[in-house]
Amino acid sequence: MEVFLANYFGFCYGVKRAIKIARENANGKCCTLGPIIHNPQMVEKLRAEGVDSAEDLDAIHEGTVIIRSHGVGPKVYEEIKAKGLNIVDATCPHVKRAQMAARELVQSGYDVVIVGEKNHPEVKSILEWAERNTAIVETEAEAESLPQIPRLGIVSQTTVSGTHFEKIVLKLLSKSNDIKILRTICTATDQRQKAAMELAEKVDVMIVVGGRNSANTTKLSKLCEKKCKTYHIETAQEISPNWFSDAGKDTKSLRVGVTAGASTPDWIIKDVEKSLKDFDAQKALSKS
Ligand code: SF4
Repeated sequence: MEVFLANYFGFCYGVKRAIKIARENANGKCCTLGPIIHNPQMVEKLRAEGVDSAEDLDAIHEGTVIIRSHGVGPKVYEEIKAKGLNIVDATCPHVKRAQMAARELVQSGYDVVIVGEKNHPEVKSILEWAERNTAIVETEAEAESLPQIPRLGIVSQTTVSGTHFEKIVLKLLSKSNDIKILRTICTATDQRQKAAMELAEKVDVMIVVGGRNSANTTKLSKLCEKKCKTYHIETAQEISPNWFSDAGKDTKSLRVGVTAGASTPDWIIKDVEKSLKDFDAQKALSKS
């Protein structure tokens, strides 16, 4: 089989930066607020290196709290300080930009619409920085149902697709005569999605690597499914030889694509690539 990697895959800038910051502070008395990334293998690896993870501030009693790349609202910073804990801020600068954009719009008298997923921690953090007069819009129907707004500011979750953002903005254009649009989208997600789709068009089977709790990996998998048979795995151990024999082709001429979400560590992707290549070698040996 031939194995191809997508042009863009794996860790984005913000995730690399957050992990580097966490490692620089690893001392057995530091803890991330929520998993640093949505990848259980990486969270466990960091735990072994001295960076713990807690879902709630109530569970952290000493040392340093690391704010992950999704960011948090201003109240959380105050709560950490009130508990006498140190803060290390690994909020991705792109997320910070979206948080500050929403805040400044509200302070300048605009009502703000955040285009994004209501339950995403990053969107919640942007909402909290804005503090008031802010709504989250996920769909075109929700955008249409908004009332007229005298002064309307629009920002986006960093990981929404450019196309989705533009569709929502089109619906919002009729809602106000004074609109300020800040396209706070980061290109990492778009790049990975486009590259995955391009590759999925050219191969027989796609393997998407990343945490099952990672929204961006799941999205990559859903997009690839539209183009070819796709499997979402967390580690190489999940690869099944049946996937390739079921593909209806001689495995020798099979083309397999590999991509990974922005929270998937390099070592897991390399492991998957190696397992696919080894699978071919084992097949050749069993025939000889
Ligand atoms: S996807 Fe973009 S905004 Fe989100 S952490 Fe990565 S670089 Fe930052």
